[in-house]
Amino acid sequence: MPATGGRGGASIPTRMRAVTFHGPGDIRYGTVPVRRPGPGEVLVRVEVALTCSTDVKTFRRGHPVMIQAIPTVFGHEFAGVVAAVGKGVEQFTVGQRVAAANSAPCLTCGYCRSGKENLCDRLLFLNGAFAEYVRVPAALAAVNLLPLPDDLPAREAAFLEPLACVLHGVDRAGVRADDTVAILGTGPIGLLLLQAARLRGARCIAVGRGALRLSRAYACGAEAVVDLEATPDPVAAVRERTPGGLGPDIVIEAVGRPEAWEQGVATVRKGGTVAFFGGCAAGTQVRVDTQRLHYEELTLLGVFHHTPGHVREALNLLAGRRLNIESLLSHEMSLKDLEAALTAMERRDALKVVIVP
Ligand SMILES: [Zn+2]
Ligand SMILES: [Zn+2]
Repeated sequence: MPATGGRGGASIPTRMRAVTFHGPGDIRYGTVPVRRPGPGEVLVRVEVALTCSTDVKTFRRGHPVMIQAIPTVFGHEFAGVVAAVGKGVEQFTVGQRVAAANSAPCLTCGYCRSGKENLCDRLLFLNGAFAEYVRVPAALAAVNLLPLPDDLPAREAAFLEPLACVLHGVDRAGVRADDTVAILGTGPIGLLLLQAARLRGARCIAVGRGALRLSRAYACGAEAVVDLEATPDPVAAVRERTPGGLGPDIVIEAVGRPEAWEQGVATVRKGGTVAFFGGCAAGTQVRVDTQRLHYEELTLLGVFHHTPGHVREALNLLAGRRLNIESLLSHEMSLKDLEAALTAMERRDALKVVIVP
């Protein structure tokens, strides 16, 4: 028993297998100590973790917000089983299945109090899903760690965080029934946005590249797919596929490159909305046609992260089995193959990869 007054932990090893991040391009598979949960903390045995494009970016260039010190354990999408709880944890018991978002808002700053917890000044991030155990900080255990229904598979439950981001995105973009929505990007997030927009009754056009991804876009409910490799003028190709050729009501950008942001603005119809979901590299800029922005009343929106409300909505959708989750997964690998998984995602040879520790 840990000296914290918590429960469980009798069978927890002192060391575990994990992948650690040492700097851009340098991740290592090895063993690290298992840290026992302190007051309010929950130690979760990871059943599955998922790779995320953010992990690919972190692997290549570090992360300004999520990685504060190196070396560190990393990975942030997972589902598992409570292995031990720290002192004062009443809402979780050892053996309970759970999934968590990757952050917790403070709930006290001005943004949190106005319902914009995604913009919290003191967002606390979680790292360490690419390991046998992950220790969930007290603030996160209190707000964004949720018990799972028995029949929800871990590989689906691990979508809690990306789905919460996506639900925030379609809310922010104002997607409604019968809207025509173009989704730029057919990576896992683009495909998840597509499904979320479809659930709201929108007609969706997917824009991307890569045979695997484009075929999955149809499986996720796209009415039309534009292949960037085969289309000299993607703006015209999207517009042709909208009613009257006017352009989509809403464009959601899920690529994270300035060219795609600009393409989104060029594609949307008069009076339409462009939501920028994909974060671009620091220091990049885009050019906007001021005439279109003003005289055509475009609405351009940034979209970042999620709120506790969207995390709960995500769990409800996952529990209702309303999404085609398997179409967002391409491989299953072990922890030691994480680097290969991230590299395959980078080459667009993989969608999300299920990592089983
Ligand atoms: Zn993620
Ligand atoms: Zn806050």
